[in-house]
Amino acid sequence: MFRKIKGQDRAIDIIQRALRQNKVANSYLFYGPEGVGKFTTALYLGMAMNCHSTMDKRPCGVCPSCKKFLSFSHPDLIYVFPFPKEAGKSDVTVDGEIRSDKTLQEYEDYIENKIKTPWKEYFFTKNIGVRIASIRMLEHRIQLSPNEGNYKICIIEHADTLTIQAANAFLKTLEEPPEDTIIILTTSKPNSLLPTIISRCQQLQFYPVPKGKIEEELLGYEALEIFEAKMLARISNGNMEKALRLMEGGKIEIREQTLQFLTFVINNSDLKFIELSNQFRTSKNLTKLQEMISQLIIWLSDIAYFKHQQSEITNLDKTEILEILYERNPNVEDYAPELINFMEEMLQRLSGHVNPQLVIIEIYNRFTDIFSV
Ligand SMILES: [Zn+2]
Repeated sequence: MFRKIKGQDRAIDIIQRALRQNKVANSYLFYGPEGVGKFTTALYLGMAMNCHSTMDKRPCGVCPSCKKFLSFSHPDLIYVFPFPKEAGKSDVTVDGEIRSDKTLQEYEDYIENKIKTPWKEYFFTKNIGVRIASIRMLEHRIQLSPNEGNYKICIIEHADTLTIQAANAFLKTLEEPPEDTIIILTTSKPNSLLPTIISRCQQLQFYPVPKGKIEEELLGYEALEIFEAKMLARISNGNMEKALRLMEGGKIEIREQTLQFLTFVINNSDLKFIELSNQFRTSKNLTKLQEMISQLIIWLSDIAYFKHQQSEITNLDKTEILEILYERNPNVEDYAPELINFMEEMLQRLSGHVNPQLVIIEIYNRFTDIFSV
């Protein structure tokens, strides 16, 4: 099953070797960018340690133990992740019981999402963090013997959100975990962890997934055109989860609108552009606009590649539009870097309180300055 994790050959090799040689460490820190397979690797490692199949097949994914891991119902899987705190209450008892109904509901929804559509982001209603109550629960549970497996597997996801209090409480356990326990911390922000935590773990780095691997994965999912897979791989910047999310979320429609935008620029169709921009009067379609801007950035780099590096072009099926844009202003070295910076700045501004329609109008004006006749 480890082969399902793409683009992390080094980390997977190290883990498989440790498994074969029976040298799995008691505590690991998996660090690297979001959406590249840290959690899945942690889960598979836990499964492999408890799998009923022969060593070369572990984790098999089909034995009773693996199945329980995959549905997060294995009694020896202790999974801690950031979730909201109810004011004035301790969230979790040491036995792992969640007292508030609302928190419990969100907790269950989070896990359900993790099982069914792990690439989707789950948004909690309140600020989240790994709470000291969760750490106390974890510490209590790892003192007990495994229920039915050989090893207790603790996964602490987004370990950078451990409160200082929780992190300190956890240090001693991390230093001397019980023999039959494996603790895996995951984070995309290792610099936010206490050095004392980092130094107690065996560290394993994860990397952005190469574009080619993302393309391959996407093409395996559904009938995508090659240019779409290429485009999504490019936009997602090494983040496999993001690529899958985008694949699901109306990318074709957004691409159509991006093309419309460019056609309006080419033809000076100001009125039609204003009509298009009206959907961004409120922040309702904010994600869509962010996506459009990301796609426009790719168009700009396509224009830059147009003359000399056609193999790098993403919008391969639209070379006629690329050609027009290029011919309108072939001094691409002069404007592309600055325009891309400007677009990235616009993306940043969108995460603050700014009127999205004004942003797209500003972008349109820049584009018409450069590409209109
Ligand atoms: Zn198994």
